Amino acid sequence: MEYTPGEHSIKCPKCGHGMKEVQYGGDVVIDRCTHCEGIWFDAGEAEQLKGKWMGDALDMGDPDEGKKWDAVEDIACPRCGKDMQKRSDPDQPHIWFEECDEHGMFMDAGEFTDYKHETWADWFRSLIKGSR
Ligand SMILES: [Zn+2]
Ligand SMILES: [Zn+2]
Repeated sequence: MEYTPGEHSIKCPKCGHGMKEVQYGGDVVIDRCTHCEGIWFDAGEAEQLKGKWMGDALDMGDPDEGKKWDAVEDIACPRCGKDMQKRSDPDQPHIWFEECDEHGMFMDAGEFTDYKHETWADWFRSLIKGSR
C-alpha cells in the first residue's frame, strides 16, 4: 500500500510503501510494512522485546519476498533519514539487517524463520547488549 501519512505510521525504508503499527505481547508495538512485510523496531521497542520474543509469531512475511528486498542497499532511517548501517552477526553471518544507532533497526520479511526460538532470543539479547 502506498505510504499515506495518517493511515501509516512510517514509510518503509526498503520499498517506500507504508508501514503499520502492530501490537505484540500486549505492550510492545512494532511497525510492519504493508508491502514487503519487513519489520521496523524502534530502539526502545527492541529493548522491550528481549525475553519474550517469538520470531514466527511476528515475522510472518514470505522469506522469498524478504530475500528480494534484502538486495536493496543503502536504505535510510525512517525517523531521521540518515543512512542505516548494514550489520550481521558473527555467529549467523547469513542474516543481515539494517540499523540506525539512534532509532532502531529494520529486518526483512522471513529473515528469522530459520532460527530456533532459543537461539534467536540469545542472539537478540547479545545484540542489544553489544549495541551499548
Ligand atoms: Zn516495505
Ligand atoms: Zn535514525
